[in-house]
Amino acid sequence: MDTKILLTEKEMPTSWYNINADLPAPLPPPLHPGTKQPIGPADLAPLFPMELIKQEMSTERYIEIPDEVQEIYRLWRPSPLYRAHRLEKALGTPAKIYYKYEGVSPAGSHKPNTAVAQAYYNKNEGIKRISTETGAGQWGSALALACNFFGLECKVYMVKVSFFQKPYRRSMIETWGAKVVPSPSPDTNAGRAILAKDPESPGSLGIAISEAVEDAATREDTHYSLGSVLNHVLMHQTVIGLEAMKQMEKAGDYPDVIIGCIGGGSNFAGLAFPFVREKIVNKKKTRIVAVEPAACPTVTKGPYAYDFGDTGEMTPLVKMYTLGHGFVPASIHAGGLRYHGMAPQVSLLVKEGIMEAVAYEQNPVFEAAVTFARSEGIIVAPEAAHAVRKAIDEALACRQAGEKKTILFNLSGHGHFDMAAYDEFFACKLEDYTYPEAKVKEALASLPKI
Ligand SMILES: *Cc1c(COP(=O)(O)O)cnc(C)c1O
Repeated sequence: MDTKILLTEKEMPTSWYNINADLPAPLPPPLHPGTKQPIGPADLAPLFPMELIKQEMSTERYIEIPDEVQEIYRLWRPSPLYRAHRLEKALGTPAKIYYKYEGVSPAGSHKPNTAVAQAYYNKNEGIKRISTETGAGQWGSALALACNFFGLECKVYMVKVSFFQKPYRRSMIETWGAKVVPSPSPDTNAGRAILAKDPESPGSLGIAISEAVEDAATREDTHYSLGSVLNHVLMHQTVIGLEAMKQMEKAGDYPDVIIGCIGGGSNFAGLAFPFVREKIVNKKKTRIVAVEPAACPTVTKGPYAYDFGDTGEMTPLVKMYTLGHGFVPASIHAGGLRYHGMAPQVSLLVKEGIMEAVAYEQNPVFEAAVTFARSEGIIVAPEAAHAVRKAIDEALACRQAGEKKTILFNLSGHGHFDMAAYDEFFACKLEDYTYPEAKVKEALASLPKI
């Protein structure tokens, strides 16, 4: 039985899969932040290229991947699918564990899958510069990489606490030629307003989004780019699942359980959506499980409601699981999983009972990451470690029950720039923190009335 199940470059998917074609219920429309009426393409035109706006609203099942994008994908795609023989042995489980490894991209995560596509469409429509926000720095570095390939300028608003906690992500962004500032920054009205109230603000993804959106909305040559949550982003990530499906076929297996960590939902959706189609259309029984941190329990604790995507109330309102747009997360190490909302498509599928969600505290998550590093070798990102935890727990449940399930999870990225977090874990300094119920109730009060 092989350890690595590989595809040739010729076997790489040439289209993305658009789940809008197969959703069990229509996606509630995004609403204008001022009028609260459904938005149209013209409302998004100041921020996004028309091709991405079309993709955002499209119900076409497959959308072709442009040749220029495929050519860059081939630098690291198809990514490997591993059978975790050594982890299975270490756990003494009869279960079969597979993982799709997205840490092989130059930025070390799945994020370039959409960054490259977004940079391409912007370049194609004459845009010269892209603004964005980044939490832990993975998205900022992925977009910097992509903009570099297409000769675009790139400005990254990086959540201040991460700017200082993750200096090497910052260096990567600069190496690929982009500009990066800590957010809140004095460069925008949104940033200046926060700094006036709280000069020591650690920042949040919501604040950084407000800054990046303002930057793009106020400059003719600039568009905005988002690394998760939106339909077109999730669609670009489906190369992961489309490849994994072919690889599972090569392995002569099909997953009983599919697992991924969720921040905004894109890597999880990328792996899961092609399998969701099998579940909806061909009545496959696969369980599809999203894993989030207990410190930011968007799907497990939040309501399914219309909310803003940002703190500054500038983005359209979308229907999603949310902890409220005023949410300020605890400084847990899985920086990429600290967003207050969840992708509308993932939210709908959870609401419809096709996907489920669980939440874990930091310490059990890092314990799983260390078990994984000591069996499979790969040191995983703290975000991806959430998926590892759930995969291990499923495998241990199989041992208990004597069941031979097939488990597939997405290993969204490596943790080479997160070793400080591992250090804290080994020094027993990581604090478990569960977001209190009272705060969830408080956030509810801040939701816009629709
Ligand atoms: C950004 C990131 C995540 C979380 O974002 P999603 O959109 O939910 O995928 C997870 N893992 C890694 C490695 C990341 O960089």
